[in-house]
Amino acid sequence: MAKRTRIKDLLNTTEYNKQVTVMGWVRTFRNNQFIAINDGSSINNIQAVVDFNNTDETLLKRLTTGASVAVTGNLIESLGKGQKVEIKVSSLEIIGDSDAEKFPLQPKKHSLEFLREIAHLRFRTNTFNAVFKVRHALAFAVHQFFNDKGFVYIHTPIITASDAEGAGEMFRVSTFDPDHVPRNEDGTVNYKEDFFGKATNLTVSGQLEGELAAMAFGDVYTFGPTFRAENSNTTRHLAEFWMIEPEMAFYELNDNMDLAEELLKYVIRYALDHCADELNFLKERLLEEEKNKPQTERSGLDLLSKLNFCLDHDFERLTYTEAISILKSSKPNQKKQFKYLIDEWGADLQSEHERYLVEKHFKKPVILTNYPADIKSFYMRSNELDEQGRKTVRAMDILFPGIGEIVGGSQREERLDILEQRMDEMHIPKEEMSWYLDTRRFGSAPHAGFGLGFERLVLFVTGMTNIRDVIPFPRTPKNAEF
Ligand code: ATP
Ligand code: MN
Repeated sequence: MAKRTRIKDLLNTTEYNKQVTVMGWVRTFRNNQFIAINDGSSINNIQAVVDFNNTDETLLKRLTTGASVAVTGNLIESLGKGQKVEIKVSSLEIIGDSDAEKFPLQPKKHSLEFLREIAHLRFRTNTFNAVFKVRHALAFAVHQFFNDKGFVYIHTPIITASDAEGAGEMFRVSTFDPDHVPRNEDGTVNYKEDFFGKATNLTVSGQLEGELAAMAFGDVYTFGPTFRAENSNTTRHLAEFWMIEPEMAFYELNDNMDLAEELLKYVIRYALDHCADELNFLKERLLEEEKNKPQTERSGLDLLSKLNFCLDHDFERLTYTEAISILKSSKPNQKKQFKYLIDEWGADLQSEHERYLVEKHFKKPVILTNYPADIKSFYMRSNELDEQGRKTVRAMDILFPGIGEIVGGSQREERLDILEQRMDEMHIPKEEMSWYLDTRRFGSAPHAGFGLGFERLVLFVTGMTNIRDVIPFPRTPKNAEF
């Protein structure tokens, strides 16, 4: 095939009067003359002008929305409004036809719900071009951030046999024929005959393996897919999502918070610096979408201002105990507007409470620390009892406007005896976790880490409102299309 130039490069050039070839997909064909071509390199199209008097009629008829084409011609300064350059076509080839009657994407606005049903084609819209470019930039920025700091990227396993993380319901991995599952004499499933010789599942988190590596490399991170069979049909949960999990030796809770805040700011700034066109487009999209909403449901700031606001302000840090007292005396609690009223220390915070703290009370990102031990995982480091004799652990959750929890993390319990005691209390089988406990037996050290949900980050940065719209092919309860 002839060498092609990316449309993005042509739109930025001022070198006119040269022959160029572009290949892409027809967005529209107007007046038998103007083809808007998009090749994915930019959300903006290039205009190619055909001389219809000297072009075969049947060829012109095949210039339909969705068709792939190659055009060669002279790049000239455009006289028309809305574009700087255009191509005066000297040769035109239809590479792949697209039946206009059947192609589901028409040059008009489609709802996000409709586009979700045709997720195989939604890549070809401006919105999803922008969303997935931003997603790419954020992923790249994550690796750059950690690489620059000397962290080692560890690939933790996708298939695991440990069921102790307690982060959520798991998907089983098995090669058993579901109609003929081998059983023991007592009727229980005989996993010894299964592929791995034991019960296995898809990972819910790479943290435990990350801790093993941190005890050798010092600073490590994972960035991979995780799976949770939680039946929660929300706009913030997926059954398959990507998570970034750094784990650092010789870190305490404050170091952990500093790193998480620095990471978030770094990747947001990276997106602002590298995705200006996309973020501008998404900002306008959001303004348009919110026009139909009542004033109270609109974001106070536009997308770019919101992102910049995040960079310019320190995240508010407070303890769970302080948060509870704010929530207790808050208006929605007093007026019984919360679905779950806060009356006692120890309650797990629901998303309505998290959002109140972030969006109404502090109006900026918040880091909550030192949660009650009872509502957090076994591996989190125990604090001394507080003045009231209550038991807390060194956990930290970062809450973002419009998102709720975006990061969950903690300092880990490095003291073997206390860890074992916690495991007993929480009925976690110590024998199966012996490999994990070895880190505490041999050269244990204070360490900490966190999990950043990648799609929640993409949601925040793109201003999209449903997590299904920031991953190419979402997996949610009763849905695994494509
Ligand atoms: P939530 O309370 O929102 O369900 P969680 O407490 O289960 O979150 P963690 O187990 O701490 O979350 O996971 C770390 C991070 O992974 C969360 O802060 C969030 O950003 C992300 N996350 C968790 N569950 C999901 C999910 N089902 N889909 C997408 N992201 C998720
Ligand atoms: Mn959860």
